[in-house]
Amino acid sequence: MENKIVKCLIIGSGPAGYTAAIYASRANLEPVLYEGLEPGGQLTTTTHIENFPGYPNGVTGVQMMEDLKNQALRFNADIRFGIVTSVDLSKRPFRVTVDGRHTLEAETVIIATGATAKYLGLESEQLYRGMGVSACATCDGFLYKGKDVAVVGGGDTACEEATYLSTLCRKVYMVVRKDHLRASKAMQNRVMETPNIEILFEHTTEQVLGNEAGVNGALLRNAAGENVVIDIDGFFLAIGHHPNTELFKDFLEMDETGYIKVEPGTCKTNIDGVFAAGDVKDPIYRQAITAAGSGCMAALECERFLMEQ
Ligand code: NDP
Repeated sequence: MENKIVKCLIIGSGPAGYTAAIYASRANLEPVLYEGLEPGGQLTTTTHIENFPGYPNGVTGVQMMEDLKNQALRFNADIRFGIVTSVDLSKRPFRVTVDGRHTLEAETVIIATGATAKYLGLESEQLYRGMGVSACATCDGFLYKGKDVAVVGGGDTACEEATYLSTLCRKVYMVVRKDHLRASKAMQNRVMETPNIEILFEHTTEQVLGNEAGVNGALLRNAAGENVVIDIDGFFLAIGHHPNTELFKDFLEMDETGYIKVEPGTCKTNIDGVFAAGDVKDPIYRQAITAAGSGCMAALECERFLMEQ
């Protein structure tokens, strides 16, 4: 058990967590931040971010997260590598275990654990995970240089990933279950105008095909109920995310899909002293800038809460 009670414990290292750390450290809350399974969060798996204010020429997700982390470090935030494995939010100080062995107590907790990519739930998809199946084009795209790949989904993520892959791969199929894309018009136009992207509307995936060397195709079904086989080496999922809130389900109120409920217009959860920021509580906007904004709010609310104690 760590000797000193942490004033402000931040769980998660995306834009919400790092922004909370910047604000909390500047307010002398001496925040401790645990980075979690994916330091930097989801944005480290995205390509170019062009809509975050302050970067007129755009920035990579990895660079932006490094910038945010360095900014928090500049104000002496205690940023640690480690995964929070259990929490007890039943009474204050709250108790948190890291990596299954290190325990510490905290006066307040800011949860910024983000969200994780969804998979289709096919057995073959799991079989070839890491052998051609991926939910992160930016991480794995370079493995498919000059090859043919598929991206499943019709949202902004799918369009972004398809566009990125089109710069590396020979051909990119987009497998879209509806007869239209859900992505913003700008993203739709971008994929439509890219010659080596072919959109397969009203197609669903029945099976990912492969052998011991990995993925070599996908069996799809079209609107007429016919089987369609595409030859591909990479199969990328881009069908949305689910919030990383399992750790907190015994303590915090959540909606039916697991997003943490907060008091409207705040980051306050149903437990005094526990705040939620970023994608864990936001099924609607899910943007880096909104996550950062709520990280700021959570830190300010945390500061006020501690002052009132
Ligand atoms: P979305 O929920 O917007 O889209 C998910 C896509 O996957 C939809 O086309 C959906 O189809 C499809 N899908 C879901 N489940 C399945 C399934 N089981 N089988 C086949 N297809 C499936 O998720 P995104 O990750 O694309 O975007 C999330 C949010 O983040 C959005 O608000 C988006 O605008 C935002 N975003 C913004 C970016 C930017 O501004 N640069 C970049 C990326 C995301 P259907 O339409 O039929 O439901």
